[in-house]
Amino acid sequence: MTLTITAQTLSIASIEKLNELSGESVKLCMQCATCTGMCPMVQEMDYSPRQVMHMAQFGLVGKLADINTYWKCASCHACSVKCPRGIDIAKVMEALRQQVLRKSKNYIEPSRLSAEAIAEMPQIALVAGFRKFTS
Ligand code: SF4
Ligand code: SF4
Repeated sequence: MTLTITAQTLSIASIEKLNELSGESVKLCMQCATCTGMCPMVQEMDYSPRQVMHMAQFGLVGKLADINTYWKCASCHACSVKCPRGIDIAKVMEALRQQVLRKSKNYIEPSRLSAEAIAEMPQIALVAGFRKFTS
């Protein structure tokens, strides 16, 4: 079963907004990569959690807008519990998603899902997916 991902220009407002939405400070990150080592989804990501934190520290909002890392994040918090700087990285990932979704951009377009995919997917997965991937 294949999900259709909408190709579009996403938008991240600012790193200050990212810190405000997440309640974290990305500047605290010391680039130890413990989060990347803990992450069960890293193989699916364009950039690792450590690399995302690095981009955020340097304010690379344009770069952050085009990567899939925060969409692939499973919100498992494995990274957050081990971060030596106490950063809740899962919250940072959620804040990145929120910045896109609050601009009414969908990562997955429900109307493009095939009838076959909808019929095969568990209802709970559909609901969870729409919550995470649509505005
Ligand atoms: S574990 Fe924490 S300090 Fe280390 S790279 Fe990840 S976010 Fe930064
Ligand atoms: S919360 Fe996201 S980034 Fe952190 S370990 Fe889990 S999947 Fe990876």
